[in-house]
Amino acid sequence: MTSYTDEQELLNWFTSHQLIRMKIECSVEGDIAEEIAPPILFLGTGIYKAVKLPHPHALRYEKPLAEMDLPDFHIFLLEWLTRAIDDGLGACYVCGKTVSNNDTQNPWDGIFIDKEIAAWFVIHFDCKRGLHPKTAGLTPFEISLAETPILAKQ
Ligand SMILES: [Zn+2]
Repeated sequence: MTSYTDEQELLNWFTSHQLIRMKIECSVEGDIAEEIAPPILFLGTGIYKAVKLPHPHALRYEKPLAEMDLPDFHIFLLEWLTRAIDDGLGACYVCGKTVSNNDTQNPWDGIFIDKEIAAWFVIHFDCKRGLHPKTAGLTPFEISLAETPILAKQ
């Protein structure tokens, strides 16, 4: 389970890497509402469709998060995703079918998008063309995130 401290450390790291999205709304009465959204991991289906990103502690990473750059985080996340998919938790964002580490006919990939939304997607190689239409207009503010699943071998 990700502790509060881990979650706060991740949020700080995402902030310093410009991965937090912010929405500021002003009402006609002059009220200002500020909302922030952390990056999202689109992992699977059901409750695991959109989850909070795991902390590198989940794999007992030796390297402190504070010393990691974005490529380091991609590598960590790919390792974490490989294990999550071994646990049967991953599904393709586009076609919704379960992905497998052993399916050489239809392999999966992790895709990172850093635009209106900052998010990682699990997707089949062959489904990549379908990603853009499925993410058009997607913003992080209408998406509620499930807790990061606990993997079988952490
Ligand atoms: Zn697919």
